[in-house]
Amino acid sequence: MTNIAVFGTGYLGATHAACMAELGHEVLGVDVDKAKLAKLEAGEVPFYEPGLEEVLRRNVDAGRLRFTSSYEEAAAFADAHFIGVGTPQKKGEYAADLRYVDEVVETLAPLLTSPAVIFGKSTVPVGTAARLTKRLRVLAPAGGLVELAWNPEFLREGFAVQDTLRPDRLVLGVDRETAGRAENLAREIYAQLLANEIPFIVTDLATAELVKTSANAFLATKISFINAMAEVCEAAGADVTMLAEAIGHDERIGRRFLNAGIGFGGGCLPKDIRAFMARAGELGADQALTFLREVDAINMRRRVRMVESARDVLGGSLIGARVAVLGAAFKPNSDDVRDSPALNIAGQLQLQGASVTVYDPKAIENSRALFPTLNYAPSAEHACSGADLTLVLTEWTEFRDLDPDVLGNVVRTRTIIDGRNCLDRERWMERGWSFYGVGTPGAS
Ligand code: NAD
Repeated sequence: MTNIAVFGTGYLGATHAACMAELGHEVLGVDVDKAKLAKLEAGEVPFYEPGLEEVLRRNVDAGRLRFTSSYEEAAAFADAHFIGVGTPQKKGEYAADLRYVDEVVETLAPLLTSPAVIFGKSTVPVGTAARLTKRLRVLAPAGGLVELAWNPEFLREGFAVQDTLRPDRLVLGVDRETAGRAENLAREIYAQLLANEIPFIVTDLATAELVKTSANAFLATKISFINAMAEVCEAAGADVTMLAEAIGHDERIGRRFLNAGIGFGGGCLPKDIRAFMARAGELGADQALTFLREVDAINMRRRVRMVESARDVLGGSLIGARVAVLGAAFKPNSDDVRDSPALNIAGQLQLQGASVTVYDPKAIENSRALFPTLNYAPSAEHACSGADLTLVLTEWTEFRDLDPDVLGNVVRTRTIIDGRNCLDRERWMERGWSFYGVGTPGAS
């Protein structure tokens, strides 16, 4: 069993720390946010992630998982140090802000006096690991005894525990000059996963970094592709859901991630494709990624289009209209509202004069912190009370299961736009609702 430290205990770090303890390792989670640490120490997950609290609590209770703000303690304790801090978009730029990753290396490295491996997990622009390797040689008293490797993370919020314990693949980038210890240590740490025949791809640092950013670029492209098709379907009177079904049967294309709607958001895809473009530009390869500008533009247009649809359905003006917004998280089974299309649309509707009330099963608290001027309701029914228009903007199961009659009794007008094409159109129309989807006939 390995002694592991995980720097950053957010969505990625807390999940990784808890899951590594679940595999039987001794784990220390490290963060600068003391309030977050206090919750984690008490076995409480500071965000919503299905199944994580059980794993966390079990391992905290077993004494295998502890938390600290002390880098000294982490340096003395661990043989493997995972970096899981944020890499947000720089303000006013496309590039990634690497200050937190740099901070971890700059603070940790001088404290490492015996052999250790630092595994980067955060999503970083290609070339970051090579740059940090050079810094390590200068900073670490143990010099060449401290190795840096990159082990990008592919977990999805909402499925974080299963994605960590049963990933599609593990990727490890190693420094070809010093390679050896990092790979062996990774094999030890992930032994149980590898025993289950999870593919393990060992490559160079740059390729490992690029696997992550190119995977996200591909996923973003797939979503924007189907949303572009939705635009065409709307213009042509065709049905994008049937189209996705039909093209998805082709195994080369695949049905997953072909859901037309209000587009992608969250703390990863939008900032990752922008950082990727910025980095390609620095490398003189910007032409290779100009298509990502279009991917981003198609995606952002979905939000504008939804506001226009709402205005059209309401007869040309949002002023004074009461709009219920169901969903605020950027996706279901998460409370994450970073760059959430749903909240962004709610905010725009309000700016254009609507009175907007938002309900989300898990993301109200985070939404209120980001958009304090919106109204928030404790249930879908409360949000829809007296509404002229209802919008479904996050595809929570709870919304799929809504009873059109129950909601119909509280709204002023039975008009709904399904921004995620997640509801049963016939069921709603049978109950007298005017129903609009995305990229479907009748979409306004
Ligand atoms: P997050 O904002 O939830 O967590 C980051 C944490 O790092 C915070 O708790 C913050 O307090 C802490 N931190 C900041 N500076 C620190 C320091 N110097 N020392 C220790 N802790 C520090 O972010 P996240 O969503 O967990 O993302 C982290 C990284 O993982 C990003 O690069 C992201 O792109 C990548 N990633 C995220 C996901 C996801 O689904 N969230 C999936 C794959 C990859």
